[in-house]
Order: sequence, then C-alpha cells, then structure tokens
Amino acid sequence: MKKYDERNTLFSRVSLVKGSKEYIEFYKKNPEFKDLDDLHRGISFRGNIKKEDNFKELFFPLITNNKMFIKSLHEISENFEVREKVQIDKSFSKNIKEITKYYGATDVGIVKLDEHSYYSHFGGLSDYLGIDNYNNIIKDRYKTAIVYTILMDKEMINRAPHFEELMATEEAYLKVAQVGARLCVYLKSLGYDSFSNNSEIYLAPLVPLAYDAGLGEIGMSNHLVTLEHGDNVRLGAVFTNLELDIDKPIDFGLKEFCKYCALCLINCPANAISHKERIVNGRQFYKFRDDLCYGLWTKSGTDCGICIQSCPFTQGVDFDKVKRMKDNPELMEEMVKDHIKKYTRRKYTKDDLDIVKLEGDE
Ligand code: SF4
Ligand code: SF4
Repeated sequence: MKKYDERNTLFSRVSLVKGSKEYIEFYKKNPEFKDLDDLHRGISFRGNIKKEDNFKELFFPLITNNKMFIKSLHEISENFEVREKVQIDKSFSKNIKEITKYYGATDVGIVKLDEHSYYSHFGGLSDYLGIDNYNNIIKDRYKTAIVYTILMDKEMINRAPHFEELMATEEAYLKVAQVGARLCVYLKSLGYDSFSNNSEIYLAPLVPLAYDAGLGEIGMSNHLVTLEHGDNVRLGAVFTNLELDIDKPIDFGLKEFCKYCALCLINCPANAISHKERIVNGRQFYKFRDDLCYGLWTKSGTDCGICIQSCPFTQGVDFDKVKRMKDNPELMEEMVKDHIKKYTRRKYTKDDLDIVKLEGDE
C-alpha cells in the first residue's frame, strides 16, 4: 500500500511557481510531469469562458463569492471547541447518517480510517483559507470518516460544458462545506474531535473513501458512480474520533457495465479517459490523462463535466434491470442501446437556463 500525496495532484503541481524552491524540488523528483505541467501553469481557466463581458459581470459573482462562505464555514468548524464527552454507542451510526442527511446530504456511508486513507502531505491548495500548508505532513488523527454525496442540479449538468455546469459544481461544493461544517460542530458538541474536508482543504482523497463506504462504484471516468444519480454528485467527508459501525463497498456490476458503455470515454472532448485498468491500493481505477482534461477546462472556462452528463446512471437507469444485469452481458448491452436511443450519445441541452438568459438572447 502506498500513501497518496496531494503534492502529486495536478492542481497542486500547476500551482507551483516556476523557479521557486518547491518547483525545483518537486520536478527534480518527478521530472516526467514538468513539460506538460508547464503548459498549464498560471492559466486561470475561468477567465477563458466564451461569454460577453456583460454576462461575466452579471453572473460570475453567483459562483465566485462561494469561496468566501466556505472559508467562514471552515473557520466556524475549526474554531469550535470540543465539549465534554457524551458516551455514544456504535448503534448511533444510523442516527449519524440520518443527521447528515438532515443537514443536506444525499447519501451517507461510514468507513474506518487508517494511515493509508490520508494524503502523506498537503499540496498547498488552501490559499483561500489563508493556510500555507505545502509540504506539511498530514497526521493520522481520526478514527472514522462519515462520507456523503451531494446531488448536483441535473438540468445544469446537462448544459455541460457551459457556464451552468460550473454553477452546479460550485453550488454543490458550498453544500458539501455546509453539511460538513454543521456535522463537525455537532460532533464536537458531543465531545468528539472532528474535521470537515471541503473543497479548499482535504486530508485525504475522497473517491476511495466513498467507494469503501458503499456509496457507489468507480466508473471508467474515475468518478464515483452512484446507483441513483451516477456521477452527478460531489463528495464530502467529516473525519471524527467517534467510533461508528462501518459500511462495505457495493458491487452492482458497474465494472462490466462500463465495458459495454464507455460513453464517458467516447464523449470526452480531450481524450483524457481510457479503458485501461489500473489498481491503486487494491481498488480498481482507470488510466487517466489529467493534463488533457485540465487543458480542456482552460479552453472551455468551466470544469467541463461532459463525462458526468454522458453517464447513463446520471440520467437514470431502470433499477429492476440493474438488479438483473450482473453477469448478464446481453442485458447490459440492451441497457446501453436503450440509453443511446433515448438520449443519443449524451443528453446535451444547448439552450441557456432561464437563470442566465438575458432578454434579447436567442
Ligand atoms: S471533464 Fe471533460 S475533459 Fe475532463 S474527463 Fe470529463 S469529459 Fe473529459
Ligand atoms: S459513462 Fe458508462 S463507462 Fe463511463 S462511468 Fe458511466 S457507466 Fe461507466
């Protein structure tokens, strides 16, 4: 088992300043990333959205202000002191899941944390919180993770890669932070130290945890694909010292289904997705060109999202067929054909949503 390192993620790599001490050290150890990363360094992808200045003035503040709220939520949960301990039985796990949903989560699972769950080091991605953490070692401090999904607006995701897609993802990140901060404060009130991972700070990569928590399976897109909402979700996790009953991964046959589908791969405009499998710490992922994906983001000015929109599970599948599809290739093929008949290769909607439509627009 190898520890994940946030410094190896593309976001961390491209945020290194050319010529800085950190830059020199990182690329001395990892020269294979340098040339490709240099192509994307310093490019602010949102600035490239193909919209008039008037549109940007009116609608960008819808999303750019979200970080300010996430920062406040982070500060509230971090500054809240752990109170006197209330004895809690593991059977309270069911209540914790319901409480997480009450706060706004779509689905919830629980996993045990171990040293391999965590990133080894921070990748310096918490500037907005006023935290300079690049190279800092992450300590294995918590016992369990309450992992949850937040559903994104499908009408917006079906406009991907347009501005609405960015609205959907940014809104979901804010909801992740709201749920996480409230749950964190609740657990601290009961006497259990806790930490909310939000889009501005992560102690661990969340897809492996969400998979272990039984929230879905890992699809060819490398996203967590849930049964009910596909990959049209964002993930959150609150780490805590409260001992809880843990969940197990699920298997509804996605690995086989992806072989018959591959719609995320076919639709990806950057050719970033591959069908080639790769095992990471015992979990199956797929080879992925993060540089090509990010390159597309810098061109579209959004974080694209076409792979999410393409997934039959995002658009909705017949659960009765899903129950029967395992070890039944004919049925899987039929499901993919039915999906394509209904939505073509992807369920794309060209028209702007009313929320961003200006009078006089076509
Ligand atoms: S976000 Fe877009 S470019 Fe990136 S993998 Fe998905 S479809 Fe491809
Ligand atoms: S689009 Fe198809 S291949 Fe891609 S993750 Fe979803 S089910 Fe799997």
